[in-house]
Parts: sequence; C-alpha cells; structure tokens
Amino acid sequence: MHCGLCLPTCPTYDATKLERNSPRGRIALMRAIADGRLEPTKAFADEMYFCLGCLACMTACPAGVNYAELFEHARAEAEQSGALNSPRRNFIRSFTLRWLFMNSGRLHMAGRALRLWKQLGLQTLVRRSGLLKLLPKRVRELEAMTPTIQDRFSSELISPVTPAVGAAKYRVAALAGCAQDLIFSDVNRDTVEVLARNGCEVVTPPKQDCCGSLHAHNGEWKLAQQLARKNIDRFSPEQFDAIITNSGGCGSHLKHFAKLLAGDSAYENRAREWDRKVKDIHEWLVQIGIQPPSKDQPAQTVTYHESCHLCHGQKITSQPRQLLRAIPNLRLVELPESNWCCGSAGIYNLIQPEMANQLLERKLKHVRSTGAEVVATGNPGCLIQIINSAELEG
Ligand code: SF4
Ligand code: SF4
Repeated sequence: MHCGLCLPTCPTYDATKLERNSPRGRIALMRAIADGRLEPTKAFADEMYFCLGCLACMTACPAGVNYAELFEHARAEAEQSGALNSPRRNFIRSFTLRWLFMNSGRLHMAGRALRLWKQLGLQTLVRRSGLLKLLPKRVRELEAMTPTIQDRFSSELISPVTPAVGAAKYRVAALAGCAQDLIFSDVNRDTVEVLARNGCEVVTPPKQDCCGSLHAHNGEWKLAQQLARKNIDRFSPEQFDAIITNSGGCGSHLKHFAKLLAGDSAYENRAREWDRKVKDIHEWLVQIGIQPPSKDQPAQTVTYHESCHLCHGQKITSQPRQLLRAIPNLRLVELPESNWCCGSAGIYNLIQPEMANQLLERKLKHVRSTGAEVVATGNPGCLIQIINSAELEG
C-alpha cells in the first residue's frame, strides 16, 4: 500500500513537505536498497538520521507496517555502509555508544564529573567569564543543554529490596535506566515508593545496565543484543510478576528483546518471557488498580505531554491520564497535539538541532496555551528537553 495516510502525522514531512522526508518516501528508499536498486549512499544515511524515529507513522498506518523495525535495520545498514564515517563522528560514537553506555560504572563516573563541574561552580565561572563566546555556536548550544546530575544515584536512594507496604501481592523488578539514573534518580525512588504502596515488593539491583535502546536506534545492533542479554541475566524474568520501567523510550525497546535475540537458542525463550513481563509503570498501576493518594494534595493544574515511544511505540495513552485523574485536587488540562514529538527523540536534539528546536517551539506554544503549572510526561528525554527550554525562557 502507498496510501499516504501516515504523511500528515509525520513531523519531518509536515516541516518540509518533501516525499523523501516522509514515512512512505523513507520506506521506498529502504525497499530500493533491499531490492539492490540503490546503494546505501550518504544521502540515504542522512535521510535515516533526519527521521525522528517517533513512530507516529505506525499509529496512523492502516496496513500495520512495522516502521520501528524497518527504521532500526535501515540505520544499521547506513552504519555498515560507512557512508557517514568521519574521524569526529567515529570518535563520538566509539566514546558514547561503544564505551560509556556499555558500563554503568563509567556512566556514574561521568555523572560524578558533571556533578562536580556544577557543584564547584566551574560551570557558572566559565559562563560568566565569556569564554564560551569563543567557542562555536553548536558547542555553546550543547553546553546550555548539560543536564543537572542528581546528588545521589538510584542505588544510593533505593534499597536493593523494598518491602510492600502492607501485604505483598506482587514481586516486581524496577529498572533504574542509564540517563534516568543520573538525572532523575529521584523519580526512580518515587516510582519504587508508589509500587511499594500499591502492594509490590520491589527488587532494584544496585548495579544495572543500559537497556540498549540507544544502540538499537543508532545502528549498533550487536551492542544492543549484548545489553539485552546482560539485562535478562540480571533480572531473571521467571522470578518476577513484572519488570517495571518508568521511561517510555526504554520500555518501547525493552518489550522487543525476543525479536532482537531471535536465533539465539540460549536466550530466545527467556527473551519471550521477558517481553511478556516488561510493563511501563502507568500500564502496571492501572492493571493492578492504583490506591489513590490521600485527599490533602495541593490544588494544581497539570497538562500531559505524551512520549512518542509510550503512545506510538507502546500504545499507552489512557493509563497516564487515568493515574493523573486519580490524584485528588489535580485538574488535567489536555495539551493540543499531545502526541506530537517534542524534538528530543533519543539523541535527535543533539544531532539535528534545527528540526528539534522547531518541534520544541511548537510544543511550548501548546504548553503555554493550557495555562498549566506542571507538564507531566513519562520519558526522561522529553523531560530534559522541556525543562531545558523552560529554564532558558526563565
Ligand atoms: S518515525 Fe516519525 S519522523 Fe520518522 S517517518 Fe515515522 S512519523 Fe516521520
Ligand atoms: S506506511 Fe502505512 S500509512 Fe504510510 S503509505 Fe505505507 S501503508 Fe500507507
């Protein structure tokens, strides 16, 4: 089918109105390569990285085209072709994907360095000194996006085993994430507390690994497989009623380990069990029936931005709203275009700043129109993107 129903939902097509920037155009390019009619050129690779991977096209497609899978394979093909190779790009990819995000100890080390950078006042000093003005615009933009690292990581805030409050009805594992662990360990602690208050005994191993979504979305298929195996070994799915993630982007990847490890006889069956057990926190709380918080909550107006990989990747749309509505004194105001990408899209805001900023502007305009005091969202990437721009706007 070439119906084009996906075109109006695609943010990049909406911005350029070019067929090659649309899902249908991208699929045609992928098809041409698969059929041997086209080589994976730089133009092809650039197009695959201009795609946000937001998966809005999957929600729109009446034929059930699995764009998520096509997209991951296409990026892997682009990487294998070497069309985008350059010493700078190769170094950044080796440092981040192949070294930093492959080991939680290294990530914590980087987190501590960033924390010190802020705590010792070095960041303020450098900003006030005017030194940044000497650097290229792109470096200044990246510096402004440096996230605030929490004072303590998840393992310092959460016990390895948190008992249920009252009778334990479920035994669950909680995933701390990688960036989530450094930047939102407080959200991880809150997640565990909410689970415990809702009858779950929560297992949170102090040492955890990245889920590998960053690798799978950026053409590093083999590394994504390594990380999937590590996660399955660390959280034996047979031992839990559910494996909980509070990051929409990770969850969308975590639910497809069976496909990622297809043909691996040692892991295939366990990966299927794993996929069945992985639950987004909102999905799980609605499934088990949440105990609403006490009535003495302050009055607040909240709007909800949907993370692409939560709503399009996992089709979780009503549950976060149900949970928000369960909070006394909370008024939920719908966000126009709530499921339109905010531009974060993994590392998209780092590699495609122009398009990412356009999307962010559009998102903020809608946020302002709601008059809400709080923007709630279920993915660390979206949170950082929205927090950074709100701070820049004062
Ligand atoms: S994933 Fe998003 S940006 Fe990419 S083709 Fe689909 S709708 Fe467009
Ligand atoms: S991907 Fe789906 S919605 Fe888009 S053109 Fe093909 S069949 Fe139509």
